[in-house]
Amino acid sequence: MPDIVVVGGGLTGLMTALTLSHSPYQVAHIQRHQPIDGGETIRTTTVSAAGKRMLETLGVWQRLATPPTPIQTLKVADGEATIGTRARRGKAFGLEWQDRDEPMAFVVPNATLLSALERQIQAAAVTPLIDRTVADFTIANNRANLSLIDDKGGTDEVTCDLVVGCDGRNSTLRKSAGIRQHALPHKQTAVVALISAERPHQNAAFQRFLGSGPIALMPMDNNLMSLVWTLPKQEALRYQACDVNAFDKACTKAFGDELGFLTLQSDRLVWPLQPTFIANPTADNLILAGDAAHVIHPLAGQGYNLALGDAAVLLDILCDTFARGLPAGHLSVLTDYRQKRRLEVGAMSLTTTGLDALFSRMPTGVSKIAGLGMNLLNRSPAKSAFSTIASGGTLAPANLFAGRLPQGYRHRK
Ligand SMILES: Cc1cc2nc3c(=O)[nH]c(=O)nc-3n(C[C@H](O)[C@H](O)[C@H](O)COP(=O)(O)OP(=O)(O)OC[C@H]3O[C@@H](n4cnc5c(N)ncnc54)[C@H](O)[C@@H]3O)c2cc1C
Repeated sequence: MPDIVVVGGGLTGLMTALTLSHSPYQVAHIQRHQPIDGGETIRTTTVSAAGKRMLETLGVWQRLATPPTPIQTLKVADGEATIGTRARRGKAFGLEWQDRDEPMAFVVPNATLLSALERQIQAAAVTPLIDRTVADFTIANNRANLSLIDDKGGTDEVTCDLVVGCDGRNSTLRKSAGIRQHALPHKQTAVVALISAERPHQNAAFQRFLGSGPIALMPMDNNLMSLVWTLPKQEALRYQACDVNAFDKACTKAFGDELGFLTLQSDRLVWPLQPTFIANPTADNLILAGDAAHVIHPLAGQGYNLALGDAAVLLDILCDTFARGLPAGHLSVLTDYRQKRRLEVGAMSLTTTGLDALFSRMPTGVSKIAGLGMNLLNRSPAKSAFSTIASGGTLAPANLFAGRLPQGYRHRK
């Protein structure tokens, strides 16, 4: 019988089950039947330098089928781009960070990351419970009980000390446990696609804050770039459906001519954006992680990095808990997790929602003042703090972010 059951076969569930397989507890992993779909070949994830160290330590980085693209420069602009105006072009992306000793982050296609995680978990000490969906979560005698339905409609149950819910933003576990959330109204939708740029991107990541929402381009191999373009929801649907030439022109106009003409290279996906805050991502015998615990605006590419922090911090807590002779579902695990995740998750949620509101949805006067702030920031010492945070691991100290597994506990497995 497992001590811990991790639920969810997305990027968070696979990575969390793999991470917790390095704890002294027995781990099982529940996954629905879900082949990697075409959308995951278009979506990318920006993994921070600390996240890379963690995925290397877990043996995932080495299994990536193609090398991730390092981000060496991060360039930020605010306001409409004026194409063709030399003076404007020169200061178009006025705020700039250069990497120092190592790239601050890496861009990985989601499909590549998912396959590497799937292959690595097969070699890990994890009991797979595949092709099952969790229908309900209850507690009896201080243990969690999960009711499962398999792909053929059969039912099953599993009991454990601790459930780690990585079942995404519509989490069944969160609802079953009655955990409260505050979701902002859905006003914006992201258009996600791969594009190619006329000029070399030189491993720079770009973000332009526009009145309608930020437009971001992340560097990939072969001068491809991953586009995440936030728009009011009706506009996003219009840009998803419009003629390709019209899309290319609109995208180039919105981004500006820093990289020359931008050309669509994939289908266009749309992603409804609804940042969601959860004050307490725990309940008796249950911890939520990844999008089940926090959904943030994708403008800073930090959603999955938060999930990496959830798992890395939880592993450290569980190793300490085992050393104290306590079960994985002990109350102290829940309180420690809550306290240790509060700062990073809260800071990232506030920063991403705040930046989007400040630059995208405020009246012009206010965003002009914000633009002034951005120019000042470019010359202030606070700038280096931003790149340190973007590199990850600062607000969530954990062994895996330092590139090592927790040491000094006796392994039971
Ligand atoms: C446009 C966009 C761009 C982004 N870019 C970045 C980026 O560059 N960097 C970054 O760090 N983050 C980024 N993010 C955030 C990141 O993509 C998400 O945080 C991450 O994918 C969430 O993964 P997850 O596994 O938590 O959730 P999901 O991917 O939603 O997975 C949930 C899993 O749970 C399973 N499940 C659900 N219910 C049940 C059930 N009842 N029983 C069993 N299984 C169940 C589902 O089948 C699925 O496998 C971006 C997000 C968006 C929208």
